[in-house]
Amino acid sequence: MTYQFNTPQTIIHGAGASRELLPQLIRLGANRVFFVTDAFIEQSGLVQRLAEPLREAGLAVAVFSGVQPDPTVQNVLEGLAELTNHGADVVVAVGGGSPIDAAKAMAILRTNEEPLQQYMGYHKIPKAGLPLIAIPTTAGTGSEATKVTVITDAEQQVKMMIFDAHLMPTLALVDYELTLSMPAALTAHVGVDTLTHGIEAYVSRKANGLSDPIALSCIRLVSTHLLAAWQEPSNRVAREGMALAACQGGMAFTNSSVCLVHGMSRPLGIQFHLAHGLSNAILLPAVTRFSVSGAVERYATVARTMGVVPEGDSDEAAGAALVAGLEQLNQSLQIPRLRDCCGIEKPAFHRVLEKMAADALASGSPQNNPVVPTAD
Ligand code: NAD
Repeated sequence: MTYQFNTPQTIIHGAGASRELLPQLIRLGANRVFFVTDAFIEQSGLVQRLAEPLREAGLAVAVFSGVQPDPTVQNVLEGLAELTNHGADVVVAVGGGSPIDAAKAMAILRTNEEPLQQYMGYHKIPKAGLPLIAIPTTAGTGSEATKVTVITDAEQQVKMMIFDAHLMPTLALVDYELTLSMPAALTAHVGVDTLTHGIEAYVSRKANGLSDPIALSCIRLVSTHLLAAWQEPSNRVAREGMALAACQGGMAFTNSSVCLVHGMSRPLGIQFHLAHGLSNAILLPAVTRFSVSGAVERYATVARTMGVVPEGDSDEAAGAALVAGLEQLNQSLQIPRLRDCCGIEKPAFHRVLEKMAADALASGSPQNNPVVPTAD
């Protein structure tokens, strides 16, 4: 069996990495730069700080700050119209997964003809898009290092997963200082998202010799740093560890796959307006309990990497300890349970169960799970 491994051409990681933007744009030969961000990030003054030296150097700069959380096709098209109008030759995404994903979709729609919906699924984008620089401000999705974009088709009520090497950013500037402002709940949700990427990449049926060590390193970093980053927002060591973990989580899953947690979390997110990281975090312990028998050794390695299993315990015991450890982590991070968020006893939940199950299976992610589920 062969497998393909993609990363950005360059990743610059560490305090102040975002200040490398101008030299990197010059290296890419950019003249007309288009920033994609959201209203909060723009109001924080970050984009202004990044854009000022570019303008002073004579580059033409425009900013689209209209990305909404979990961006929609409509949202992408609004940005695309401004990007085209500006005549951009490089796109710079600043923000969490939402602005980075929206920017990826804009960059490829600039050079490809079909509506975005046509590219849903795997390897359907014919041409490379505009060069894209990703500057993450959350430590979660790892989108700065993935060949994936997730865009909501509001008409069909589906979060479309589009997977293609043409979606890989050209360059990622991973500056953990930009994540210091994340509030505790956001830190928790995106942090468990990262852990989910590491675990799913490692237990996936598509796991491979290149993705495995990166996935385990991601899991180890989250176990070391997430609680500290949540408790002490200005803990720089913890923030740096989580920024590295997020980037590694993205690199691992995009070259292996995600599995059942992600398959189920997209429909749950769209039906109940749950943020991506939160819906993954809610599902992770229960889906792990369901899946552990399909990859006992691998889950045991995850448990040992997280340090949640006493030395000498069997692989079977390690699997059970992992589920308990994940439940404990959610409790420590004050992550709510499904019943708190979605009213699982109410008819409204049961009315959408069948659609959620069908959409989860249609996404392809559950088929990579160690135990492949049925709709039931
Ligand atoms: P997000 O980008 O939706 O941001 C969530 C909120 O946090 C926003 O209000 C934003 O303004 C705010 N925020 C961002 N940075 C901040 C900071 N430093 N301080 C304070 N507030 C800040 O959140 P996300 O979890 O990073 O991204 C979620 C999106 O990414 C979802 O649409 C999900 O489907 C997608 N996703 C994509 C990939 C991929 O590989 N492309 C992987 C996982 C998830």
